[in-house]
Amino acid sequence: MSTYKNAVEVEIRERRLGSVLNYHGDLESLINKSKERSLCANCANYEQCGNCGQENAATLTTWIKDSVVINHSPIGCGLDSIIYAASVRENAEGQDRTVKRLSTNLQEKDTIYGASRKLEETIDEAVKRFSPRVIFILSSCVMGIIGDDLESVANEKEAEHQIPIVPIYCEGFKSKMWSSGFDAAYHGIFRKLVREPKKKQTDLVNVFNFSGVDRLSELLGKIGLRTNYVTAFSTLEGIAEMSEATCSAQFCDTLSSYITTVLEEKYGVTKVKNAPPFGLKWTDDWLKEIGELTGRREEVLQVIDREHKRIEPELEKYRNILRGKKAFIMTGDQFAFQLANAVKDLEMEVVGITTLHHDQVPDGKDEYGALDKYRDDHGNFGKVNVCAKQPFQSFKIMKDANPDVLICRHPGVENVAIRLGIPVVPEGDKNFSIAYDGLIKLAKRITRALRTKKVITNLSQHIKLPYTDWWQNEIDDPYYFERT
Ligand code: SF4
Repeated sequence: MSTYKNAVEVEIRERRLGSVLNYHGDLESLINKSKERSLCANCANYEQCGNCGQENAATLTTWIKDSVVINHSPIGCGLDSIIYAASVRENAEGQDRTVKRLSTNLQEKDTIYGASRKLEETIDEAVKRFSPRVIFILSSCVMGIIGDDLESVANEKEAEHQIPIVPIYCEGFKSKMWSSGFDAAYHGIFRKLVREPKKKQTDLVNVFNFSGVDRLSELLGKIGLRTNYVTAFSTLEGIAEMSEATCSAQFCDTLSSYITTVLEEKYGVTKVKNAPPFGLKWTDDWLKEIGELTGRREEVLQVIDREHKRIEPELEKYRNILRGKKAFIMTGDQFAFQLANAVKDLEMEVVGITTLHHDQVPDGKDEYGALDKYRDDHGNFGKVNVCAKQPFQSFKIMKDANPDVLICRHPGVENVAIRLGIPVVPEGDKNFSIAYDGLIKLAKRITRALRTKKVITNLSQHIKLPYTDWWQNEIDDPYYFERT
């Protein structure tokens, strides 16, 4: 059955992928139960916090060059614009640093009379102020309830202004999996901006990334390949020609398994099946697959040999520092296992892996994902949790694991570790740890973080946790509130 449906919206992850927010146990059981799709999808009956899919959709659209993103929502939904305004400066190295975001600022009366007119005026204002080449409209919970006809507004304004206007259906209340927002954005991008292929570009590789700068072009350039880096800082032309690439590589399946599967199904752009290149062997395997797909097998073997020799002395130096140190990983579903694999290459001990959600059946079901590969390479792992950042649970899970360092990707997770006196390596959006140079960079960053142990411990001793003694000391099970 085709993953892509010719509809304005893509199905949310709970329905499409059987995604869950709750699991604790070992990796083998997680994989097996996922294959049977038998994990409890509705067990997390108490949530302290969460994210919104609209924000994830914004991640993928805000940084597309010459775009304007309109939040068709109350003003508060666009709060992430402030974060982007700050983080784009960090990540934009040599790129346009302006964040062009507008909000229709929906009010109470708009929920009664509708807000299509407001949206039209905001589109006109966007064109007047910024002369964009593309406009994205992000839907919101309020818009979902009042039911404005985004398609009609977009089509009319597209004809008037002669630029693509792309509605993205990412109402936060639709899905508890905030990564559904990635799929919503990619669906809109695919149906409105990706063109029918004119010719295959045999040296072109799509690289799907969250945000941040390009960290793979140099490596792939060594085997004569060009990267089409999407969607952060990509051009409309780059997006349009995704369909002509030979293959699609990704930083993380959780981000882009939908779009890479759709490109494979519709246009024969092969999805790289090996887990993304985090750690030595995984980078080798990933490169070898790309070499096979692009007819560069020999060149890849030479590059692997050279890269190993190049980084070996420094890698050994850091292994001698980090060997046996305990790491806890807390990030997105597949990404957590990618980082855990890199950590194992530094000869550290992984004492806990927490993913923020889990897709039971990823798009493109027969692929060799990071979870299977981690199990195959390192054996079963006993301490896997799925926990959507909930601080009240994370605090217990992390305390029990007692790591030397936490490696995390999402803002808001660090403070739980710091309260426990655990140094943190924030992975952020920069994908520092990818491929050969990334492994060295990860080692350097962990080494630096470990040096903060004294100050972090000191801080933790002066912090009062917001939880009762009952929760802190009498209850052992972090999943105490789980519905059984
Ligand atoms: S969950 Fe709904 S109301 Fe909240 S930020 Fe997301 S779209 Fe806006």
